Amino acid sequence: MPSPADAAPPLPTLVVGAGIIGVCCALALQERGLSVTLIDAKEPGQEASFGNAGCLAASEILPMAAPGLAWKVPRWLLDPLGPLALRPGHLPALIPWLLRFLRAGTPQGVIAATAALAPLADLSWRLWPELARAHGLAGDIHAQGTLTLYETDAAFQADAAARRVQAEHGIVSEILTPGALAEREPDLAPIFRHGVFHPRYAHVSDPAHITAKLAERAVARGAVLVRGRVLGIERGAGRARLRLEGGASLEGARVVIAAGAWSGALCRALGHRVLLESERGYNTTLPDPGVRIGCPISSAEGKFMLSPLDIGLRIGGAAEFAGLTAPANYRRCDALLTVAKRFLPGLRDAGGSRWMGQRPSTPDSLPVIDALPGDGAGVLLAFGHGHLGLTNAPGTAAMIAALACGETAPIDAGAFSLSRFA
Ligand SMILES: Cc1cc2nc3c(=O)[nH]c(=O)nc-3n(C[C@H](O)[C@H](O)[C@H](O)COP(=O)(O)OP(=O)(O)OC[C@H]3O[C@@H](n4cnc5c(N)ncnc54)[C@H](O)[C@@H]3O)c2cc1C
Repeated sequence: MPSPADAAPPLPTLVVGAGIIGVCCALALQERGLSVTLIDAKEPGQEASFGNAGCLAASEILPMAAPGLAWKVPRWLLDPLGPLALRPGHLPALIPWLLRFLRAGTPQGVIAATAALAPLADLSWRLWPELARAHGLAGDIHAQGTLTLYETDAAFQADAAARRVQAEHGIVSEILTPGALAEREPDLAPIFRHGVFHPRYAHVSDPAHITAKLAERAVARGAVLVRGRVLGIERGAGRARLRLEGGASLEGARVVIAAGAWSGALCRALGHRVLLESERGYNTTLPDPGVRIGCPISSAEGKFMLSPLDIGLRIGGAAEFAGLTAPANYRRCDALLTVAKRFLPGLRDAGGSRWMGQRPSTPDSLPVIDALPGDGAGVLLAFGHGHLGLTNAPGTAAMIAALACGETAPIDAGAFSLSRFA
């Protein structure tokens, strides 16, 4: 008779994708005593989690879709290097997503999405300092708030409704006059009529470093890191199998799909509909910018972001819908730099490095945090974080760990279900 010592070790939880979401899920699952195998086609954190703006944007609780936005889109699309671009060849595939995006921008859609995003942002804001402290990264989080700049009264007034909604959810802001702005940020050009400061906002030293370090910590705690591209998932009774490119396979007790913008294909192969698009963003990081800003700064009219990371000033933004495989158009980086030079007249752009990343975006700006229905081993979903994956990673991970253990999630997960796309 086999002794207890001969019993096979429990099967691991297989986490597909080692971006910030997969890595945080791995750590949260380990906290619950589960063993983890982390699978990625690349080294951890080489996709969207690598070069994002590095902001823990806890004050960002409104969805991207908004009433009236549809009327601005044609003007933006006319400018090939403007804040929004759509490659014509990708339009047919994008139509279902776009129609849902328009629906998400109704007043009711915005209220519903904000009611779901606010608790996730709050949970994650509370968990980030704990996570950072637990893994030796406390010095990599700079809680210095954020500034939004307005060149026109019209843009400032247009954001009044959003500020009211934020205030209703406890997100305070401080309105700054041009004089107060100049005192706070002396390197800015004196072209702004209004500024709004949000204290509930932080930025990290370097998002690539944070993701790599957290992945290292998961491995140090026993996670197995497998380099490979997952082609399919098979669900059996009490166990799941991943098919990898090259013919290998992996077996686990359950699977977490945290493959960022690539998660849609894995869900669809399991027979589930999902509206997920790659929303590309671009930036340039300047190691020696010659100017200093005290916190991340965004432009209301220019739709871009300046992030004072430890590795340099990162200038980026834009939303480009072109699918997962189209080549990057780095002229977008240059266009953003040109606008930034008007904001920061002393800006030096020597030695800048350009980057494009694929945000995993849903039309309602809500991530998918859910368990697939059906018999067989559990398949948990943790993707679709759009502009806020770094911000909302620890909250997502806490919810996935609760789902894996059959516990009640720390916040209501209803709005994050995959079935909203059925
Ligand atoms: C320009 C820009 C600025 C941004 N700024 C911010 C910001 O300031 N704050 C913020 O919160 N968010 C920001 N974001 C969004 C944020 O970067 C993303 O939401 C987040 O990185 C998504 O993390 P992820 O782990 O889901 O995806 P990813 O980081 O893309 O990771 C997915 C991983 O899955 C792997 N993978 C995919 N398919 C497979 C497969 N079949 N088999 C194996 N592995 C696979 C990939 O190799 C990748 O490593 C920004 C994004 C961009 C583009």
